[in-house]
Amino acid sequence: MTPRSYDALVFDFDGTLVDSDEALVVAFEQLGVERSTVTFGHAIGEELDRLGLALDDYAEAYDVEVVRAFDGVDRVIPQLGRWAVCSNKHPVSATAELTRLGWHPEVALFAEDFHWAHKSVAPILDLLGLTADRVAVVGDSEGDLRCALEVGCDMYWAGWNPRVPDDPEVGTVLSRPAQLLELYR
Ligand SMILES: [Mg+2]
Repeated sequence: MTPRSYDALVFDFDGTLVDSDEALVVAFEQLGVERSTVTFGHAIGEELDRLGLALDDYAEAYDVEVVRAFDGVDRVIPQLGRWAVCSNKHPVSATAELTRLGWHPEVALFAEDFHWAHKSVAPILDLLGLTADRVAVVGDSEGDLRCALEVGCDMYWAGWNPRVPDDPEVGTVLSRPAQLLELYR
């Protein structure tokens, strides 16, 4: 793996740290949406708009007790250096899950912090007090890649999520969460 190292890692949440596809889909189903029409990696507000649903109804339908950390992620989190979460998730659901998992990122911004539009890493860099070259983004979607490219951060793909491409055009695929620890200076 590339031996570049960083002062902090900025993580996407759903599909990167937690295996949440099923919980997200079940909430949509409870609101009457056909499972096959749900897509991932968007701002939750944009996906709900597309499907004609209300944010509060979705937050209500989403069960914050079910998602699990990807295998190995739970063991790595307590050993991370500086880290942050940058997620399109509803803040009520995301905060409840972080609390239940016992995870304490230095900075965590969710959909509301981005005014329900697609997230951005720029305010996270400001809050961390770091420039883009000192920080890497870890994610599982094209949206995460876009966030990384927008600010000039390197991109690492959460290869433990089966939806991550084997050979993306941009960025490095990590195959195991333990490799995250090698990314710190
Ligand atoms: Mg994701």
